[in-house]
Amino acid sequence: MKTILTGIRVNSEPTLGNFLGAMLPMVRLANEHSKDHHINIFIPDLHSVIAEIDGNFQKNLVNSIKIYLAAGLKVNQNVHVYRQSYVPAHSEMCWLLNCVANMGEMGRMTQFKDKSEGKSTVNVGIFDYPVLMAADILLYSANYVPVGEDQFQHLELTRNIALRFNHRFKKDILVVPEKTETQVKFMGNSEGVRIRDLSDPTKKMSKSTPGENSKIMLTDNPEKAAKKIMSATTDSLGKIQYDMFNQPGISNLLQIEALINDKPLQEVISTWQGETHYGDLKKQVASSVSTFLTHFQESIEAIPDEMVYELFETGEAYANDVADKKLLEVQKAFSLR
Ligand code: ATP
Ligand code: MG
Repeated sequence: MKTILTGIRVNSEPTLGNFLGAMLPMVRLANEHSKDHHINIFIPDLHSVIAEIDGNFQKNLVNSIKIYLAAGLKVNQNVHVYRQSYVPAHSEMCWLLNCVANMGEMGRMTQFKDKSEGKSTVNVGIFDYPVLMAADILLYSANYVPVGEDQFQHLELTRNIALRFNHRFKKDILVVPEKTETQVKFMGNSEGVRIRDLSDPTKKMSKSTPGENSKIMLTDNPEKAAKKIMSATTDSLGKIQYDMFNQPGISNLLQIEALINDKPLQEVISTWQGETHYGDLKKQVASSVSTFLTHFQESIEAIPDEMVYELFETGEAYANDVADKKLLEVQKAFSLR
């Protein structure tokens, strides 16, 4: 049985962009494939300590699993939910893979360059986390790892580490995850979803953008969220069209309207194409967003913490079992066992 694996950092709560672009597509993928695939959904908490984490970390952690459940994730015996730091093999595997990865390839990682640029001190974790990510993937022989395009380079690194390891020990011990093009195809239409910043639609919506009105959080008061949509930056062309390049603000609203109502983008475009009153579209999207948030927040409220902790308990037992077996094979290859 093949494995689909995903992790989402919970340093702060997710935006509507994270939800529509990464979490919701994963729920669809999981529900579609959990009959004959392992679905690993994990909290990469060891990745979180690379940066500062706020006092709500444990709450955000439980909440992020509730988000998957509220979004419709169907749990069966093939769906495994676990916290990385509860599976010690991740750290051990990371060390062993550190001795396979090269300084040269690591130094080329653009995320490292971006995250360290202009900083007077940079912790080693920021440099090394792609190797921990490789460990996260290779311990479970994951074939599919749905990630945003910002993570493609790390996925290629994982493939290179696995190929080099197998070559060095002359045995196919590590399963090489699929190429990024294959991953994107497998994900279907989740490819290319980029929800834009509401104040500056030329940029993507990001958790770390300071502007309150730039982003919608899943915990936003629905009325407040509707106001943010009403005040979203658009353009002065006065004609509704889907054109991310020339009309990113309007296109972003059409995109949100489609994704949030689970409608094909093309259908939403045909409904609004050629209309001239931006206010009407904004009212419609504002209403969709506030209705969605109201229902979503009620669903989250209804999920008890215990349900999440039970998932962790069974998921972590499974994860430790699988990860320890793979780790042992790797330790044996290095003659450590
Ligand atoms: P940060 O500002 O800290 O980088 P972020 O909002 O970009 O936060 P990440 O933790 O980097 O979020 O990414 C989590 C997941 O959400 C990734 O799979 C990423 O590709 C996806 N994602 C992030 N922003 C968007 C967006 N605006 N639209 C669609 N998907 C997004
Ligand atoms: Mg990001």
